[in-house]
Amino acid sequence: MKALVVEPGRAGARVEDVPDTVVGVDEVPVRVLEVGVCGTDREIVHGLFGIAPEGEEQLVLGHEALGVVERDGHGFSRGDLVSATVRRSCGHCLACADASPDSCLTGDYSERGITRLHGFARELVGEDPAQLVPIPRDLRRLGVLAEPLSDCVRALRHARAIGGRQPWELQRALVIGAGAIGTLVTFLLRLDGVEVVTTALEPAKPLIEETGAEYVPVGSGDLGRFDLVVECAGNAQLMADALGLLRRSGVACLLGIDGREQKVELDGRTIGVDAVLENRVLFGSVNARREDWVAGIDALDEMRRRWPGALDQLIGLRVPLDRFEDALSFSGGKATLVLSD
Ligand SMILES: [Zn+2]
Ligand SMILES: [Zn+2]
Repeated sequence: MKALVVEPGRAGARVEDVPDTVVGVDEVPVRVLEVGVCGTDREIVHGLFGIAPEGEEQLVLGHEALGVVERDGHGFSRGDLVSATVRRSCGHCLACADASPDSCLTGDYSERGITRLHGFARELVGEDPAQLVPIPRDLRRLGVLAEPLSDCVRALRHARAIGGRQPWELQRALVIGAGAIGTLVTFLLRLDGVEVVTTALEPAKPLIEETGAEYVPVGSGDLGRFDLVVECAGNAQLMADALGLLRRSGVACLLGIDGREQKVELDGRTIGVDAVLENRVLFGSVNARREDWVAGIDALDEMRRRWPGALDQLIGLRVPLDRFEDALSFSGGKATLVLSD
């Protein structure tokens, strides 16, 4: 069976023949159709991230899965479209015990295709039925967006919970970055009727404007202040800057990752005075729990109705497994690896 594998800690990836998957009696056999790639995969391929399963040297990549159930059982029928959660319980913390491994308190969790668990960039996977997430059949291949969307839904759920700890209204939001995550966050906020400004390096982004958000290329001058800033560009300096772009009681949410060794600048009065006197918050968000998946899949359906073709356009590149390098270097939206038709 072909799989996309890495040796965590070493740069490089390759498509290799790996032993056929043995599907346990407690598992559902899932034929993988498609796997999305993102910045996390890029970091793993660069040797900066990722842990192989215990006792193994290689890790099968892929955490953004769309697959089809191969056999009836465990509440699923042959032909059902599914995705699957990424992070799995550490087994010994109160967050994981409460079905929230996204908030794991120990760091001992495992993650499909990232941390101690093989991923989905292979033809067949045996999966725990409790970790499978049904995808409505008419969403078809848009289901590959369910995983990244679940992370965005989770981030906004937390932002609203944090903002909502005191009287607060989310009227105006800034989204920094217009890759797949920045675009999905923009779409979600627009579905809720929030006034959105999205900013990124590209001179224009018609896909963003199609939703009624305003697109502003970086460096276009003062954008004003916001109730919510979501950093999706993965730039630590922009993350620090977010605190200074908030209105009173504003919330800044960090969704990108920037692992570069560097110092960033932060104006002393922004954190030392404004953040205090204006009740501002800056927080990070990772992963998602099941309710976020379910809400994200509902939102996919709504986005497809509101802006026909926009999600298809967001998936800018679909290539077979052996063209993984093209997918990893693609910058025009979401790229996916197609394993089966
Ligand atoms: Zn991802
Ligand atoms: Zn835990």
